[in-house]
Amino acid sequence: MDFTLPETALAVQRGIADVCSRYDMGYWERCEAEKRWPDEVWADLAKGGWLGLGVPEEYGGGGQGLLEMAVATETLAASGSAGGSAFTYVLTPGFGALTLSRHGTPEQKGTLLPRLATGELETCFALTEPDAGSNSLAISTFARQDGAEYVVNGQKIWITGVQRATWMMLVTRTIPAEEAKPRTNGMTVFLVNVPEAVEKGQLSYRPIPKMGANTTPSNMVFFDDLRVPAANVVGEVHGGAVVLWDILNPERILLGASALGGAEVALRVGVEYARQREVFGRPIGANQAIAFPLAQVQAKIELARLMLYKAAWLFDQGLPCGTESNIAKLTASQAAWEAADAAFQTHGGMAYSLEYPVARLLTDARIGKIAPVTEELLLNYVATQVLGLPRSF
Ligand SMILES: Cc1cc2nc3c(=O)[nH]c(=O)nc-3n(C[C@H](O)[C@H](O)[C@H](O)COP(=O)(O)OP(=O)(O)OC[C@H]3O[C@@H](n4cnc5c(N)ncnc54)[C@H](O)[C@@H]3O)c2cc1C
Repeated sequence: MDFTLPETALAVQRGIADVCSRYDMGYWERCEAEKRWPDEVWADLAKGGWLGLGVPEEYGGGGQGLLEMAVATETLAASGSAGGSAFTYVLTPGFGALTLSRHGTPEQKGTLLPRLATGELETCFALTEPDAGSNSLAISTFARQDGAEYVVNGQKIWITGVQRATWMMLVTRTIPAEEAKPRTNGMTVFLVNVPEAVEKGQLSYRPIPKMGANTTPSNMVFFDDLRVPAANVVGEVHGGAVVLWDILNPERILLGASALGGAEVALRVGVEYARQREVFGRPIGANQAIAFPLAQVQAKIELARLMLYKAAWLFDQGLPCGTESNIAKLTASQAAWEAADAAFQTHGGMAYSLEYPVARLLTDARIGKIAPVTEELLLNYVATQVLGLPRSF
């Protein structure tokens, strides 16, 4: 076994770290406070060719795998953008470019991938619905065929990045959940041109005020007789579950990587403060009550990283990676939360001051226990799929 990262991944780590070195913690603090997209970082990532990492070379991308993309996301998050802000890297390179590289038609690939690789076009991903929640197969947004088009009606919630997206990867039902056998049948994924649909009054959205990750708004989205050409189906009609699993496993890995980077930056901030802050005439880090939670987090980060890289490697080999992706997401999110909590406690009263970054890191870390999949659903997966325990639902 060889645990060293391949040179391709090390080059990505160096390249992204170089971009990030131009932006300090204060930059990310300001983006969050001003609720603004990190335009400057985005432009630098585009200029360096980092947005197209997972796009095949024939379409102008870097031809790299999910491992390299995970390393990119982790490095970006660890630089200070942390868990929430690292959505920046996941929405377009992950949801859009990676999915179309694997499941797009030759025409979809030819027209979209080169422009996704440069960041000229951006994407978002719309799965979650108010009435289905974690039970994704129970979605009811329905696409009815009408000649060479589909007519979509329904509603989504929490859809992040709609404002910037030219294209939405929209997950619908083309057979109602109650009639589908098996229940994974009858899902269809569409590419929806957001600005066009908004212009025609067929798609509208409303931002949800949220406690963090405000560099990228999340929205309620409404579809009102939205007309989508049949040519915009991604994968097979009724066979969208195949595409969906290929979105959800990389999503768990990339957002796991973002949580991991969030854990790394929180630990760094906590350790720095523990070294510098003196109370009772010695650095607080000399107290085991402060040092041990930080040391424990270091151990958890190392463990989560091993599982995360393994999951990404399996995905790149075309091997099953469901269990590893779920465990990687679970452990990375837990590491992020525990790191942020330890950094918070280490800061004492100053943790509560918005002049320090720990409050943002804690808020960012909390999302990982909920999105894109809750901790309970991940544990359900391990309990039923790995341990073979009976399902409770
Ligand atoms: C900031 C943010 C950004 C997001 N961005 C996107 C996006 O871009 N696109 C998108 O499609 N979605 C997005 N989501 C949605 C996210 O994926 C969902 O919030 C998440 O999957 C949980 O679904 P839910 O909110 O409906 O919770 P629910 O399903 O209502 O769950 C509520 C609670 O009940 C628990 N629960 C439910 N069923 C069980 C069970 N069987 N066993 C044990 N516990 C159970 C859950 O674990 C959770 O704790 C985003 C969410 C957030 C917060």
